[in-house]
Amino acid sequence: MRVKVFRSVVSTNRDNFSKKTKNRLAARAGYRCSMTGCGVTTVGPSDESPEAVVNVGVAAHICAAAQNGRRYDPNMTAAERSDIHNGIWLCSTHSVEIDRNESRYKPDVLRNMKAEREHHAASELNAGKGAFHGADLIAIGPDVVGVGELLGTSGSKWSIRIDHFVEGDLRTLIRFSEKFDCQRNRRRQASWPGPDLAQSGRIR
Ligand SMILES: [Zn+2]
Repeated sequence: MRVKVFRSVVSTNRDNFSKKTKNRLAARAGYRCSMTGCGVTTVGPSDESPEAVVNVGVAAHICAAAQNGRRYDPNMTAAERSDIHNGIWLCSTHSVEIDRNESRYKPDVLRNMKAEREHHAASELNAGKGAFHGADLIAIGPDVVGVGELLGTSGSKWSIRIDHFVEGDLRTLIRFSEKFDCQRNRRRQASWPGPDLAQSGRIR
């Protein structure tokens, strides 16, 4: 009987996440830890059985689920505390670290890390594979360095995919390619007898 009372006290004092919220937090993070610089995979297969899954991720509360917890906000309602907006997906190590270093990991810091991780997860998804998987450091001209992949070459044409700029940006790259095109056109005009259009005119 006593155990029952204890259980009910625990369940009413903590604004826990539902299973659905936990699953969505994990999925939105791409099943990776949201801690800046970590990003470790938190879910994978278990050898226990062909259906078993190992999960080392934690749906951590940004503002604590209960009074006296870390980053507790008394102005939040119970519904807000258990809402997905108040959760961040972390590996087990970092779910402990954020509670042991509260002065560093304030709610806003955690919210930014969550947003960043979800942004990366979306990029990975849109790229069709890990954004940096099989990527190389590619320098294009003196001012553009990016992480990407050489997709192929044909004659003087190079196809390159840039996932992330280390130096320069898209504008720098476009400026560089325009300069390149300009030089190529000047060379064409000097060596070619005339534009293709003029030749087709003569045939008619
Ligand atoms: Zn981590």
